[in-house]
Amino acid sequence: MPLLVMKFGGTSVANIDRIRRAAKRVGVEVAKGYDVIVIVSAMAGRTNELVGWVDEISPLYDAREYDAVVSSGEAVTAGLMALTLQEMDIPARSWQGWQVPLKTNSSHSAARIEEIPTDNINAKFGEGMQVAVVAGFQGVSPEGRITTLGRGGSDTTAVAFAAAFGAERCDIYTDVDGVYTTDPRITDKARKLDKIAFEEMLELASLGAKVLQTRSVELAMRYNVRLRVLSSFEEQSDDAGTLVCAEEEIMESNVVNGIAYSRDEAKMTLISVADRPGIAAAIFGPLSNAGVNVDMIIQNISEEGRTDMTFSCPVDQVARAEKALKGAKEKGEINFHDLVADTNVAKVSAVGIGMRSQSGVAAKMFQTLRDEGINIKVISTSEIKISVLIDRKYMELAVQSLHDAFELDKSA
Ligand code: ADP
Ligand code: ASP
Ligand code: MG
Repeated sequence: MPLLVMKFGGTSVANIDRIRRAAKRVGVEVAKGYDVIVIVSAMAGRTNELVGWVDEISPLYDAREYDAVVSSGEAVTAGLMALTLQEMDIPARSWQGWQVPLKTNSSHSAARIEEIPTDNINAKFGEGMQVAVVAGFQGVSPEGRITTLGRGGSDTTAVAFAAAFGAERCDIYTDVDGVYTTDPRITDKARKLDKIAFEEMLELASLGAKVLQTRSVELAMRYNVRLRVLSSFEEQSDDAGTLVCAEEEIMESNVVNGIAYSRDEAKMTLISVADRPGIAAAIFGPLSNAGVNVDMIIQNISEEGRTDMTFSCPVDQVARAEKALKGAKEKGEINFHDLVADTNVAKVSAVGIGMRSQSGVAAKMFQTLRDEGINIKVISTSEIKISVLIDRKYMELAVQSLHDAFELDKSA
């Protein structure tokens, strides 16, 4: 039997009506003759609620217990989806991550998938089961503890299953009808893309476009999974949504193809550290050990052997970063006069594979922000992206004006 993976995000399973509607979509594919693996997220808002409870009890939580709590949202929707399908006379059963088992490493709250054995589920398909409903986001560590794959991780569960089972396609059903040139919630000029290259999607996702989890795009690229993003709220044709595919499949493309943003950034500055060999290692080593995801880094000009070091990280990691750096100071590993956190910044990025061969994108981006009176705090670039850190209150304005400046509402 040909096999499809269909993933339903939080808004698509937000209540019983929505679960029924999603199950109907699954029924359509089953009627076409597919075996289906359905991956479900938790009901919309549920994971945030669970995370909130953990934070309230223990701000610097034990990540193993965090996972035990936050994985529970998916447990509920998996069972409800299987029941809904059974009520439609479609043979279905649910699987928790550990039952598959979806094996991960032990990096709790950001675990990486190591293996998905296919025998258990395939045996059930062999016995007449038509739909395996799998709880997204969860796995099990070598120590036998429940892990989660990071926020948005059900996308990664879906792609990993599609790769492991050799699915014909992996369909990601969500609350937008595809991947847009920027988040359609920020500007109604955002344009839906019929296709987007893996590299661009990877960059957009890692820079904050949460329509797909970064890791899911990485896996799709590596295993050549046909990955499609589409709406669970509309009737769908076979070419609906956005196909994430190899660059070669795309004929025309703009120099800049997307604007991404990440709202919850923080900028931290260590004032007056000794400018000596090994200082960066002494600062960023403890941060990495504390699980802080450092993004942009700048070291200022040094005066009289001392310098300021600035870096950005997610705003919810500021407490961890402070603890790690103050700990290193107490141990005498680093010395600084002050540690200043600016928690009101956001990152805005322009992405496009066309940047490899065309210059002038950075200049245009900086001019556009200047014309809006937006001050740039940190800049970083790579082959196909330019990112700036700005005050959070200008984030929407920056996205909208860059979308206009690069004429993303028009196709190439
Ligand atoms: P789900 O719960 O289905 O996983 P998410 O909320 O994780 O859905 O992702 C979908 C959301 O991603 C959309 O509602 C949209 O606001 C946001 N988004 C951000 N950037 C983009 C983009 N470039 N194209 C489409 N959606 C985007
Ligand atoms: N429920 C998890 C989250 O909200 C995983 C997901 O939806 O992909 O992050
Ligand atoms: Mg998501």
